[in-house]
Amino acid sequence: NEDQTPVVETIENEDGQVQEIPIYQVYLMGLSGTGKCSLIRQFKTTEYRGIYEYSSSVEDDPDNTVSIMLDGEESRMHIMNIDVDLVKCSDEGDAYVIVYSITDRQSFQIASNLAKNIRERDKDTDKHIPIILVGNKSDLVRKRVVSKEAARQTAFKYDCKLVETSAAINDKVDDLLAGTLKQIRINEYNHER
Ligand code: GDP
Repeated sequence: NEDQTPVVETIENEDGQVQEIPIYQVYLMGLSGTGKCSLIRQFKTTEYRGIYEYSSSVEDDPDNTVSIMLDGEESRMHIMNIDVDLVKCSDEGDAYVIVYSITDRQSFQIASNLAKNIRERDKDTDKHIPIILVGNKSDLVRKRVVSKEAARQTAFKYDCKLVETSAAINDKVDDLLAGTLKQIRINEYNHER
């Protein structure tokens, strides 16, 4: 099945060996103001940063591609920040990262709807694409209006991973990045079998 083959970048390392690095498409979604740009900025400073410099084989948006070394294997994630419009994403995403702010109930409602819509679309395409639900701004403890329990219930309902992050103080952002890649790899492995 052609559309399950990941895009790869072929690289020659110092020993002259040719290596293929997969490039995954990650949709970063959520209401404007929830912290998506701030998360991308933190992704670029990740401690999981890969070895190879980005080269030119993917033309668009090189800035939004992060290279990650996880479990001894390098991968790239091309992060697309597309706010709340699911129609804008074709079903090419390898994962959906849906961000809400724990200080904004509306953003949580929108995140829940996005997860619901993705799962409905999964039924049509016969896929089960990983969704990571992200409660950002976890540093704003006293302004919290979305409880962790409510988020857990939504995550359970739509089979999402859940993580609460703070892009501001860089808390759990690395976990989010590595966790997303893990989910993509697990999903890919399940498809191959
Ligand atoms: P986007 O519209 O979803 O891309 O959101 P931005 O990344 O532009 O962030 C919107 C606002 O929220 C900015 O003023 C950020 O500084 C702030 N912000 C983003 N993440 C956090 C966070 O984790 N904690 C706090 N306190 N503020 C944040």
